[in-house]
Amino acid sequence: MSIPVLEGRGLKKRYPVKTPLGRVRGVVRAVDGVTFDLMPSEILGVVGESGCGKSTLARLILCLEPFDGGQLFFMGREVRAQREREMTDFRRKVQIVFQDPFSSLNPRMKVGNMLMEPLLAHRVLHSKVQARKEVAGLLERVGLSPQDMDRYPHQFSGGQRQRIGIARALVLNPLVVVADEPTSSLDVFVQAQVVNLMLDLMEERGLSYIFISHNLSLVGQIAQRIMVLYLGQVMEVGPARQLVENPLHPYTRLLLDSVPVPDPTKAHLDRLPSLGDVPSPLNPPPGCPFHPRCPRAQELCEREKPTLRGRGDRQVACHLV
Ligand code: SF4
Repeated sequence: MSIPVLEGRGLKKRYPVKTPLGRVRGVVRAVDGVTFDLMPSEILGVVGESGCGKSTLARLILCLEPFDGGQLFFMGREVRAQREREMTDFRRKVQIVFQDPFSSLNPRMKVGNMLMEPLLAHRVLHSKVQARKEVAGLLERVGLSPQDMDRYPHQFSGGQRQRIGIARALVLNPLVVVADEPTSSLDVFVQAQVVNLMLDLMEERGLSYIFISHNLSLVGQIAQRIMVLYLGQVMEVGPARQLVENPLHPYTRLLLDSVPVPDPTKAHLDRLPSLGDVPSPLNPPPGCPFHPRCPRAQELCEREKPTLRGRGDRQVACHLV
């Protein structure tokens, strides 16, 4: 039986909020005890509204920020216990595709140099000629041309820039790619092209993805499993198809019902819920964090926080399930 390529146990990240005079006036629990695993060649979808902790979780997984609690394992070994050389290997093997391809690319660097740099810095290849050849092939594979090596990021369209972002994530031949809302800044047609490219590359290279999105419907089509986050906590996790066809947590249900339907005659306007605002993470509600917005909330929900329970892959944090 294979082991998870990546595993998080009870990951926590808190940010102190200070007054202008520097006094701590509260703590934001951006990620609050998130446990997950990612199997080889799997897509784990992470969904939730803005501010639910998705991007913070991505940064913790990539060790771009230290976490305050919990453990992260890569190929069965705890990441924080690794030595510098192993950490360098971890950074090669776990890569990211950012949401905004423009701001994530250096505007002053030609695309070729940008992609050759990690190959030479990590000594994967030792000569510029070899690196240039490798990058030319990679650009072709992501649907660009070798001549694009000599162009700057602003000379590309949004979709092309995201292809460069994907090439940059793949240049070091990773095992895991964390895709943080990789299609949300693209129009629908280009979104489909980018998602299809990512799926093809996954199959060719044996990648595993953590695919972060606010769009549960999109994630439901491509992921094997989905984890639903709310105020930094896991509300529901399970096989994608089951979760989309039969959501158990009221928040998952509301996320699904709020996906826009393109044909107005088929839009179930009477079903569209009014979610209201997400409570401030600085002052989260007691009990179930979702209770102020939950249509099924009961008195118990205000007092007692539900734990994540279930069998196997399907787990839900709700008193009613
Ligand atoms: Fe709603 Fe209560 Fe379940 Fe929370 S525990 S999701 S408030 S029913």
